Amino acid sequence: MNRRHFLQSAAAGALVASAAPTPKMIGLQVGAVSFLDEGVDKALDEIQQDASVNTLFVATFTYGRGIAGRQSPGQPLPDHGKQEYDTPGNANAFHGGSYVRTHPQFYKDTVIQDFRAPELGEYDVLEAVIPAARKRGMKTICWFEDVWRRDVPNVAQAQEKQLDGQNSTNLCFNNPNYRNWLLGTVEDYCRSHEIDGIMWGSERQGAFAQSLGAAHESTPRSPGTLGCFCQHCERKAKERSIDVARARAGFKALGEFTTAARARKRPVDGYYVTLWRLMLRYPELLAWEMLWTDSLRETYAAMYSKVKSVKPSVGVGWHIWHNNSFSPIYRAEQDLSELSKYSDFLKMVMYHNCGGERLATYIRSVGGTMYGDVPQQELLDFHYRVMDYKQEKPLAEIPKSGLSANYVYEETRRAREALTGATTQLWPGIDIDIPTAQTNARCTPGGTKDAVLAAFRGGADGVLLSRKYSEMSLANLRGAGAALKELGLV
Ligand SMILES: [Zn+2]
Repeated sequence: MNRRHFLQSAAAGALVASAAPTPKMIGLQVGAVSFLDEGVDKALDEIQQDASVNTLFVATFTYGRGIAGRQSPGQPLPDHGKQEYDTPGNANAFHGGSYVRTHPQFYKDTVIQDFRAPELGEYDVLEAVIPAARKRGMKTICWFEDVWRRDVPNVAQAQEKQLDGQNSTNLCFNNPNYRNWLLGTVEDYCRSHEIDGIMWGSERQGAFAQSLGAAHESTPRSPGTLGCFCQHCERKAKERSIDVARARAGFKALGEFTTAARARKRPVDGYYVTLWRLMLRYPELLAWEMLWTDSLRETYAAMYSKVKSVKPSVGVGWHIWHNNSFSPIYRAEQDLSELSKYSDFLKMVMYHNCGGERLATYIRSVGGTMYGDVPQQELLDFHYRVMDYKQEKPLAEIPKSGLSANYVYEETRRAREALTGATTQLWPGIDIDIPTAQTNARCTPGGTKDAVLAAFRGGADGVLLSRKYSEMSLANLRGAGAALKELGLV
């Protein structure tokens, strides 16, 4: 009998009066503009009523539209908030950056010092929200992500260096300017505000997986843009006895392979065999991928220990990218027994509705490189097998149907099992109105309810309603609330 089952049966039999189960974390991601548009108390009233949310994941920093700003252009406006878009020309046009005031003493060891979001003026979302949230017994977690723009002052000194020598928009985890910015940011959050936690997310991967298009990205990456090959990464490679020149030669050859594959120029021995030949000839390809992955893990660990050194009671965890549901390579890199060493919680993305569209995009992408010889339905069936999914629909249907609630169940169950023995909390990310093409699957109250039920059936310690309140319809939010009521959790 494992600990979970013991606690459940203990509670059921009232054997131990003090063994009351920990309340489940009911989280919601929300950006600053929602509080400004709707008023803090009115927004909190709404999300408490609709979905019994007890933890706010406030987007404190990003240059991306996924977690901040209003509804994405081209998507229908939801039934709350300002009924307009924040596209250029409109009020509060989205720019991105920090939605909290920054304190210069925490950014002395980095050249990135000027990153305040300009569109909301002097507004500090934590200052505005935390007192109101505390009064209601709600927790506040700072939620920020690894998304940058090129016009941030001095950012070039922290950017990844591509294979072609150009700078990338992405920043390098091994660059002290970025590492120190991340550490300064979490210290600033911990010391300047009464926060309950910090969650950070990075939706990227190493050069090998990038090259193969092993993600739900619709635009293939040109070989020259692969990264990172900066001086800091090269030095780290040498410390690991990786031959940098061989790695570069390997990526050049891999780039020639993927370029030809996407032009449907089949190699004599086929796509899959030729890729294996490259991996055998240049084992540096995989070593470079692992170097990138380890650098991300070291970044997690460094942020974790920084927070714990400042305020041990602040929880620290990570948003794990949706690609974990599609690409076996990326999933292999998300070794939960390793991540659990520096994770109080993990938000594992399990977006069921947009998952269908994204999985189809992933299949088309790898179907144009390493699996060029495999008919795409067969390729999807192969992924259903190796990723351990059951009851999902054919390729032609998944963009229009989305993935099933059973997908959420399978993913939760798998993550739960992978975390056996760890104290890390498992909080599946639940899709509420994440944009899809208008003709593809759209979220429904029933579908949202089923996804939340499935997460708890799979053993979740909570759920995180995603991606941002400003794109969610209230009816779908209430679908999540209905599941929680049915489960007796609220
Ligand atoms: Zn680098």
